[in-house]
Amino acid sequence: MTNRFENTMNMELKLISSANLQLFFEKLLQSGKIMIAPVLKPNGKVYFQPVKAYSDVATDYIQTVFSAKSVVFPKVETLFAFTKKDGKITLTNSLDNIPETVIWGLRPCDASAFDYLSDFFLRENPDSYFKTRKDRTTLVTFSCSHSDEACFCTSVGLNPGSTIGSDLQMTVMNKEVYVEILTEKGKQASAIATSLFSETETKDKAPFLANPVTRFSMDAIKDKMKQAYDSAEWKHLSLGCFSCGACAFSCPTCSCFDIQDEGTQDNGKRLRCWDACGFGLFTKHSSGHNPKPTQVERRRQRLMHKFHYSVENLGRISCVGCGRCIRICPAHLNIFENILSVTKD
Ligand code: SF4
Ligand code: SF4
Repeated sequence: MTNRFENTMNMELKLISSANLQLFFEKLLQSGKIMIAPVLKPNGKVYFQPVKAYSDVATDYIQTVFSAKSVVFPKVETLFAFTKKDGKITLTNSLDNIPETVIWGLRPCDASAFDYLSDFFLRENPDSYFKTRKDRTTLVTFSCSHSDEACFCTSVGLNPGSTIGSDLQMTVMNKEVYVEILTEKGKQASAIATSLFSETETKDKAPFLANPVTRFSMDAIKDKMKQAYDSAEWKHLSLGCFSCGACAFSCPTCSCFDIQDEGTQDNGKRLRCWDACGFGLFTKHSSGHNPKPTQVERRRQRLMHKFHYSVENLGRISCVGCGRCIRICPAHLNIFENILSVTKD
C-alpha cells in the first residue's frame, strides 16, 4: 500500500540549463499565467505566493510553511452568491474567472498531495469547484536535494524524486536540470519555451536527491493501525495540544471544510471554509453534544484518518510525509513519533 505508482507511461525527457530556468519561468509569466512560487520572507521562512519576477523566487529551501493547496481548495471560497430584487433572484458562482495558474517549486510530497486531493474531491460526486481550479493549474515540481529531521516521505511510499501528481518535474544536476514531462499540461507548459529544452535519455536522479530518514514502514504498521484506536497512548500524546489547528491548515492533504451562509434575505453568499479536526467545535452538534469532546479523541481522529480510515476509504494513506505539521506545531507534537507510539508492540 503506497500512495500511487510513478506516472512514467508517456513521459518525455528533456534537459534545460540551470541558467535558462529563469527564461522558462519568464516565458510562462509572459503567457499570462498566474505564477505561484516559494518566496523567502524576512522571518527567514518560505511561503508560496503569486510572483511577478523570477528574482523573487526562493530556490534554497527545504519546504514552505504552508502548502499550495489553497490554489485548488481556497481557505475561504464563495460557492455562490445571490441577490434578490423585485422578487427576482440572481445567482452568481465563482467559477467563471478562475485563471490559468502554474505552481512552481512544489516538492514531490506536495505534488503527491495534489493527487490525493484529486482522489478525495473527484472520486464519487466530483466537486466542480475543485475540478475547475485543478484543471487550470499546472504543477512544476523540483526534486529535493536536501531534507530535514521533519521530512519522512520515504516512510509513506514516496521519495525525494517522486513524480506522482506532477505535470513537469525538474531535478537539478549541477549546471543542468533534468526535466520529466509527465502530463499534457506539462507538455503545454514546456511548449511555451521549446528552444530552451534539449532531448536526453533517462538519467539517474539518485545522486542528486536528499536522503531523509525512514521512520517506519507502512507495511509494518498497516495492521497495527487497525488496532491503534484503543491505544492508551492517545491520552498521553495529545496532552500538549492547544487545538490551534496549525497542523491541519499547513497540511497539503487535509481537506475538511465547513459550509457557512452569510447575508440577508435580499443578498448573501454560501462559503466553504477550511476546518480542522483539532478545533473544539469540529464535531460539535447543535444539540451541544460533541462526540469528540477532548484533544484525545481529536488527535486520534487526525492520525487514524490519515493512516487508517483513508486506506479503508481510498486505498491510500493521506499523509505525504512533508513534515509541515511537525515544524509548525507550537506544542512540538510529532506525527511520526506519535504513529510509532500507538503502533508499538
Ligand atoms: S499544531 Fe500542534 S497544538 Fe496545534 S492543533 Fe495541531 S497538534 Fe495541536
Ligand atoms: S500530516 Fe503532517 S507530515 Fe503528513 S502530509 Fe500533513 S502536514 Fe505533512
